[in-house]
Amino acid sequence: MSSADKAPMTPKKPPQPATEGPSSSPSLPASHAPTRCQALTRAGKPCGATPMRGEAWCYQHHPDYAEQAQADRIRAAHTPKAPRVKQAPPPAAYGALQTPEDIRKVVEGTIGSLLRGQIDRGRANAILYGCQVALRAVDVAAFERRLKALEGEQAAGQKRRGKAR
Ligand SMILES: [Zn+2]
Repeated sequence: MSSADKAPMTPKKPPQPATEGPSSSPSLPASHAPTRCQALTRAGKPCGATPMRGEAWCYQHHPDYAEQAQADRIRAAHTPKAPRVKQAPPPAAYGALQTPEDIRKVVEGTIGSLLRGQIDRGRANAILYGCQVALRAVDVAAFERRLKALEGEQAAGQKRRGKAR
């Protein structure tokens, strides 16, 4: 007589997920060695920095090192920072604006720089506006040259006609 055969099979319970208590408790014991700093930043967000070995806080937030960290911050604030690198000028956007071809190159370079995100829209607008003004000036200069040439031809023609008479 085998009792094992008669014993009803008890359906195995699915493993219960461990949902006991809030898992994201900020007050973990230091011995738990969290992988993230438990402190909050000044913005109220979790710091998330790698904590010191066996501690719940990173160097910046560890109470024992708070003074030292504060001193470091003050020193950093008083250390002159390297001057910020200015927005690199697009090489094609610089050069002579003497001829329509010069201006076309600058316009082309400016649009290219804008599309590549090397310059912002305000800067591109300013350059393109400058190109418009330059193009108008080039046009006016070209018109004046043509006009003078025509006047010169006309004067020369009148002289020739005058001599012929
Ligand atoms: Zn921290």
